[in-house]
Amino acid sequence: MNNQSSHVDVVVVGAGFAGLTAARDLRKAGVSVVVLEADDRVGGRSMPGTLAGYVVDLGGQWAASSQTHLLGLAEELGVKTYPQYVGGEHIMDITGREARYKEGEDLPLEPADLAEFNKLMGELDSLVGKVDVTAPGSVEGADVLDAQTFESWLQGATTSEPARAVFRLIVQTVYCVQPGQLSPFAVMFYGAADEGIAHMIGTVGGAQETLFVGGAWQLASKMAEGLGDAVIVNAPVRSIAQTDDGVTVTSDAGVWTAAFAVVAAAPPMAARISYTPPMPPRRDAFTQRMPMGSIIKIHVAYQTPFWRAKGLSGAILSDRTATGLWMDHTIPGVETGGMVGFFGGGYAQTWAERSPEERRAQVLEDLATYLGPEANNPIEYVERSWPAAPWQRGAYWAMPTPGALTAFGPALRDPVGRIHWAGTETADENIGYYDGAIQSGERVAGDIVKHLRL
Ligand SMILES: Cc1cc2nc3c(=O)[nH]c(=O)nc-3n(C[C@H](O)[C@H](O)[C@H](O)COP(=O)(O)OP(=O)(O)OC[C@H]3O[C@@H](n4cnc5c(N)ncnc54)[C@H](O)[C@@H]3O)c2cc1C
Repeated sequence: MNNQSSHVDVVVVGAGFAGLTAARDLRKAGVSVVVLEADDRVGGRSMPGTLAGYVVDLGGQWAASSQTHLLGLAEELGVKTYPQYVGGEHIMDITGREARYKEGEDLPLEPADLAEFNKLMGELDSLVGKVDVTAPGSVEGADVLDAQTFESWLQGATTSEPARAVFRLIVQTVYCVQPGQLSPFAVMFYGAADEGIAHMIGTVGGAQETLFVGGAWQLASKMAEGLGDAVIVNAPVRSIAQTDDGVTVTSDAGVWTAAFAVVAAAPPMAARISYTPPMPPRRDAFTQRMPMGSIIKIHVAYQTPFWRAKGLSGAILSDRTATGLWMDHTIPGVETGGMVGFFGGGYAQTWAERSPEERRAQVLEDLATYLGPEANNPIEYVERSWPAAPWQRGAYWAMPTPGALTAFGPALRDPVGRIHWAGTETADENIGYYDGAIQSGERVAGDIVKHLRL
């Protein structure tokens, strides 16, 4: 504890994309800020790693071309992009049937199963363009859909086991929970906030279209650099007290007083801070019902992208292996090949408890299943178990349990007195993504500037 103590206009809690954006925008408006970050680095769910001498993202890495907040930030900060590799054939191995297909083609399911899959996708994406993210419960029929689990809904919605299996995988690797741990309404609601589930799982024209040269984490690093000594790491905020006149924020690095606080930590992490007076019941009840998702991200490097020579794209979707999703992550202009994959949902919940050596052995076995024995000889392996990360405790995002969205929805974003909430979970669009985090930071900064000028 270095016991700093000072007064600023706004204290921002959390130096992820949301908190850093809020701080930058406040600064630009002439408002004094400090950003208190619990971890020993900035970035939050964005984090760099090195693999075969190159920087990789252990957190988020892709952007959709429609994510204008994120791509605009990259342009402003001089970070270039490149497209995801999609040459060759993708592999899908579902319910014991392995098949190949190319980018832009239908999933290689039997015709009757494909028809069922498309029908369910149509139902689940039926809210796209129709939801008000500030009032989830206002959607007609939302209470009934939010009172079930996605798994029970799937059982009733189709008898096609392959169609069910693909949706289970989507929930595990995109929503980062098990199909019994969220409601069909949450699947639809977040799909609608994110341009549709079909967009979320897509590469060309979808959410995995674009990557950042040198990694996405640079954006957080550059934002923090610009804020200079206003960003303080190793400063976990333990309590926030507020009166009619201001807030007092107590962290391990000292105590700050301010006119406003922005809490830009994910909802379950924000709930670990002690508030005086206590949070209103609805806000507290919601954050009690919004655990972080579970994901373990893995990067593996090989001498060459040997799968490309076999006509494979590196994209693998499988319910046979513990790692359900893989993509090629070979850096353009580099000789070594890279694969990026995930243990998602229940697999991440189980495998987070195992040793890195056990995970590595499983990962290589899974890759060899589809890419051949060469996969057993990587030149490097790097992973990040997000459920074990002390100040993030999971990723990609926090996911409400059944019934929570309709009962408590607006409480996630409504300010509580002088405390405003940012973070990707509070975004208007692209919730769960960097783009949403940036947008939430901009929104909160704009709201506070208005208050300060009243
Ligand atoms: C493996 C993985 C893959 C992903 N893939 C993608 C992708 O491809 N594309 C994409 O757009 N998004 C992706 N995401 C999601 C993306 O990373 C997040 O949406 C985004 O980083 C969230 O930013 P944030 O600022 O809202 O929250 P965070 O990044 O979580 O920032 C919150 C900060 O608050 C800090 N904090 C917590 N408690 C306290 C406290 N008490 N005091 C002080 N500080 C505190 C945390 O340490 C953290 O730094 C992925 C995430 C992961 C982990």
